[in-house]
Amino acid sequence: MTALPVPPDAAPPLPAGGADIDLDLPYYLETGRECALFAAAHARRLPVLIAGPAGCGKSRFVAHMAARLGRPLVPVACHADLGSPDLIGRFVYTGSDTAWADGPLTRAVRIGAVCLLDGLGAARRDVIGVLGSLIGRQRRLVIGATGEVLEAPDGFMLVASDTAAGARPAPLPPEARQRFVALRLDVPAPEAEIAIVARESGLEAGRVAPLVRLAGRIRAMGTAPLAGGVSTRLLVHAAVLMTGGIGVERAILAAIVEPLAEDSDMRRALLAVVASIYG
Ligand code: ADP
Repeated sequence: MTALPVPPDAAPPLPAGGADIDLDLPYYLETGRECALFAAAHARRLPVLIAGPAGCGKSRFVAHMAARLGRPLVPVACHADLGSPDLIGRFVYTGSDTAWADGPLTRAVRIGAVCLLDGLGAARRDVIGVLGSLIGRQRRLVIGATGEVLEAPDGFMLVASDTAAGARPAPLPPEARQRFVALRLDVPAPEAEIAIVARESGLEAGRVAPLVRLAGRIRAMGTAPLAGGVSTRLLVHAAVLMTGGIGVERAILAAIVEPLAEDSDMRRALLAVVASIYG
């Protein structure tokens, strides 16, 4: 948890969630008490760092919460080449002249959006540096190139997610990490995962259940790329193919076995697990 002082105002009641209530709300099935924590952090203007394996619903969660809080979402996919101008902005040529063009982070601050820095751990260290004053008490974005200093409005929220090292938090410097509220998402429990995959794919729950059992067995194999690899996302892909009329074995091969198998031994091991469920 962060050591930042919090303003005295209480968190507003969290708007209702669930796609049954609002069809425009991105569907997200809560797996812990993450929605209330996120809303409380937003109300107190605290940044949030979400850790969890790839494909476990981090981006969907943030999209859902941004919609529930009535804020626009500005997602940024971080990668090793992402530098601070990619976030803050740069001067661009407009024929004979140059003009300043906001980057996504600057835009998010201006409009009071939820800015999701997806995979922040992969970004260059100078990126983490520019976040310093924004995740600090002042919530200021300093645009060095223009001299502009933006005060983040109340609606703005910085959210970072990271999957770089499985379920470990982003490898941020400790002084930066301690300014974030930490939130961990994990692979959903089987009942929840069945509900999610059925809802996302339109496949009936009775046909989703063996897919979730298969995922459970693969996760239990414990081999690093397999244990963390078979995400809810892969199950959704397999189920979507099945809904589209592809046979179960082909769907599993295309959506789960081939994307996961790094060599023929692993492929054989995976096929044996598939046979133990469907054989
Ligand atoms: P991440 O950002 O963690 O890599 P995503 O948010 O992109 O993962 O999730 C991948 C997919 O898994 C989503 O598109 C959605 O179909 C599904 N999903 C995973 N968890 C949930 C959840 N709790 N509620 C709804 N959908 C989920």
